[in-house]
Amino acid sequence: MEQLNPHSVLVTGSNRGLGLELVRQLAKKSNPPKWIFATCRDPAGPRAQDLKNLAAEHPQIVIMALDADDPSSVKAAAAKVTECVKGAGLNLLINNAGIANGSTLETETPESMAETYRTNVIGPMIVVQVFIPLLRKAAKGSSLKGMSCSKAAIVNISSEGGSITNVLEWQRGHIIAYRCSKCALNMLSKCQSLHLAKDEILCVALHPGWVRTDMGNLLGTAPMTLEQSLRAILNTLGHLSEKNTGTFINWEGNLVPL
Ligand code: NDP
Repeated sequence: MEQLNPHSVLVTGSNRGLGLELVRQLAKKSNPPKWIFATCRDPAGPRAQDLKNLAAEHPQIVIMALDADDPSSVKAAAAKVTECVKGAGLNLLINNAGIANGSTLETETPESMAETYRTNVIGPMIVVQVFIPLLRKAAKGSSLKGMSCSKAAIVNISSEGGSITNVLEWQRGHIIAYRCSKCALNMLSKCQSLHLAKDEILCVALHPGWVRTDMGNLLGTAPMTLEQSLRAILNTLGHLSEKNTGTFINWEGNLVPL
């Protein structure tokens, strides 16, 4: 984990589940980032209480509103980050926010397909578009060679459920909208990696494992704890380089087939 040393990190959907644990483990590192932008839809509401309690113990955590479905809130968050980092840019952007429902192939609806695509694919697309200038600034201002998550990177939290080759846990649930959205997110990550390679901005899609969260428990009791998943993910992020950009990996850094 000590190899991961970004000055600034932004996480979407950080008020619960994987996002909250990610912020917790980043803040507890022996060399925490100077800025941890912990974003969520409703910082003032009761669903952000755990995040607020965590932020009260760690001054690096800055809580901000960011609704991945609302471009104006993404732009407002980018303006606040710009103000905080004072020309330094943003090193690590983690698109973690996501939604899922338990639909089957026969019960899936156009509305839920569209809603899921909006949050899980259009959301990360807009967030990256808006934050590209800050990521470029971080890449340009860094003395680190090559690509890394300490320099400038986008991590899209995807799912092996969206792997056409593996179709993880099909017998447990069809979750059609979710699988299709994560498959599209993998393509988006690849496209981002191709476009941003010249700027030395690393882009990966990452499957966090099947983890015990509200979403993870949709398909039964998930085998992994949040602590296990995020400990492995932070270790993996510390080892990524230009060799990994454009790939789909799991929490341990192993390639997942598309
Ligand atoms: P949870 O359902 O526990 O948490 C989802 C988070 O996303 C919440 O913070 C939620 O906020 C937020 N969110 C949802 N929609 C939006 C939006 N429009 N804008 C901003 N935030 C939003 O899920 P997990 O923690 O399990 O999942 C995190 C990521 O990991 C997701 O992308 C998921 O697909 C992926 N993943 C999870 C797996 C697992 O086993 N848990 C397996 C594979 C992938 P709010 O409280 O406001 O609803």
